Amino acid sequence: MTTGLPKTNPTNPRLHFDIYAILETSQELYLGHEVEVNVNKVETVKLTVYDKHLNRERSLEKCYISPTKRRGVERRCLIWAPVKDGVLLGEKHECGIPKTCAKPECPICGAYGGLIAGQKTLIGRVTHGGGVAIQEIDSQEKQRAMHPSRLASPTNGKDETPIPFKREYNQPGILYPVFNHALSVTDLEFASVAYAFLDALPRIGSGNPKGIAIAENNDHMPLLVVDRYLVPKGKRPVISPSITNPENAIADFIRLARNPETNTDHIQLTHFERWIGDEALNKLQDYSSLFVETILQA
Ligand SMILES: [Zn+2]
Repeated sequence: MTTGLPKTNPTNPRLHFDIYAILETSQELYLGHEVEVNVNKVETVKLTVYDKHLNRERSLEKCYISPTKRRGVERRCLIWAPVKDGVLLGEKHECGIPKTCAKPECPICGAYGGLIAGQKTLIGRVTHGGGVAIQEIDSQEKQRAMHPSRLASPTNGKDETPIPFKREYNQPGILYPVFNHALSVTDLEFASVAYAFLDALPRIGSGNPKGIAIAENNDHMPLLVVDRYLVPKGKRPVISPSITNPENAIADFIRLARNPETNTDHIQLTHFERWIGDEALNKLQDYSSLFVETILQA
């Protein structure tokens, strides 16, 4: 096959899977973008939206958790996952960053893809999206003690006097809608994706502090949707970046996720299944257990 993927067994078919979530930070978060003179800037996006109240277009700038950064943390979670025989999953498969193994049977590269420069490319089948903050809250600059790259070294005689620097942070309480899509993967390949998605959440962010959680609505329902399908059905709970009000964003997410006729947290149609809220969290945790039992603890 030109894709380089082996033929699957009819008992273990390939399907599509989507994860939709609204994430929330409980503390400030640094997601580096570029360094200006002694200031570490966070990554932001600029957009122009039509403002109904002002009756005109206006520009805004929002904090951002870039999908590529989230993808990198997820891959690292798989590489660093502990295997029963005392090694890490990346060591067991000789698969790391940037040196991936690019083998379709690797539980990391199988879904996330791999590249051996000039020799072999395995196309990743997991893609990441979203990450634009809901609220229009500017990042805040904080003074930090010294630049890590200028820590004093006793071995060379150079003047390595620590230089104060400033670092910007995304503020706590910001909501970020995010999505992961898996294209033509088996249930076991999606198990890697589900484990990586959940395991990466507390580890997102550069430096310290780190961590983000799945947000809940006022009824303590996790803002999470998982789809498993061959036919794309229903509406996709993707939030417009023009929305700046968190209540409107949450209401939109739930409206798009639910089927207004059934209003249940589990939708089952021909070639399409959707889990919402706690049902979706249970589903991702079931897939994570499948990953741990068949890949890590086998
Ligand atoms: Zn690999």
